[in-house]
Amino acid sequence: MSETVYLNGEFVPKSDAKVSVLDRGFIFGDAVYELLPAYNRRLFRLREHLARLRYSLASVRIANPYDDERWSELLQRVVDANPWDDQSVYLQVTRGVAPRDQPFPSPPVEPTVLIMSSPLRQPTEAQRAEGYKVITREDYRWLRCDIKTTSLIANCLLRQEAVDAGCAEVILLRDGKVTEASSANVFIVKDGIIVAPPKDHLILPGITYDLVLELAKAHELPFEMRDITLTELYASDEVWLTSSIREIMPVTVVDGMPVGNGAPGPVYRAMYALYQDYKEKYARG
Ligand code: PMP
Repeated sequence: MSETVYLNGEFVPKSDAKVSVLDRGFIFGDAVYELLPAYNRRLFRLREHLARLRYSLASVRIANPYDDERWSELLQRVVDANPWDDQSVYLQVTRGVAPRDQPFPSPPVEPTVLIMSSPLRQPTEAQRAEGYKVITREDYRWLRCDIKTTSLIANCLLRQEAVDAGCAEVILLRDGKVTEASSANVFIVKDGIIVAPPKDHLILPGITYDLVLELAKAHELPFEMRDITLTELYASDEVWLTSSIREIMPVTVVDGMPVGNGAPGPVYRAMYALYQDYKEKYARG
């Protein structure tokens, strides 16, 4: 079955979608992206993803090629053109095609726009019941992790270290404080309080991070946004990772040591249920 993507104004089969070798996304990783789930063909938290896209584009000084209405329409058309009810939808905007030179092309060139989709693959029930094993590492990425850029070599290297250690993810620390994981935000729970690192330029402002805090607020679960040290991470009752695709995942082992009693905790189960409830209402419209 042929899969349809959107590339620079056209809907084409994925195998026909081609980009120039001089594209700055290819040459420099000079591009930003978004990744969001569609449940029952409805794009989840679309408005929030488009707001973050605007922020990323403005931060790297690429003119936004479309307004939100046009983005929504193009994304929905890709979802509708593909055969799965639940999808993982990826969009990328690069600075465009120009001779290889670091300064921005002047005058600016047309950005390259890609939207593609794949079947939504989420953690299995067995993985949820067991929880993730993770390692910790020094966060040696750049200082603008608030921008959702495709320049992800550091994330890939760090994630591979986790895989090499038989783990699912890596929790990163900068100056002794937890930032995030290679492709997820981090929460801990201690004495019933949900704690998240503050949203600053060292972490991606996660759409799921915001939704978790929104749900905590709405259901009067206590939470704090503040720094988390490695000692606190090790001593937490629960650790969670959040991302649009993996939703909320419990971490049960950090650096070879069990988190709490080594099983997904009660606050995780409560938050996961709230999240599923919110999601089902959303998918039903
Ligand atoms: N941090 C990083 C580095 C990520 O790659 C992701 C996943 N896009 C997240 C956090 C979680 O963000 P979101 O909840 O918007 O998917």
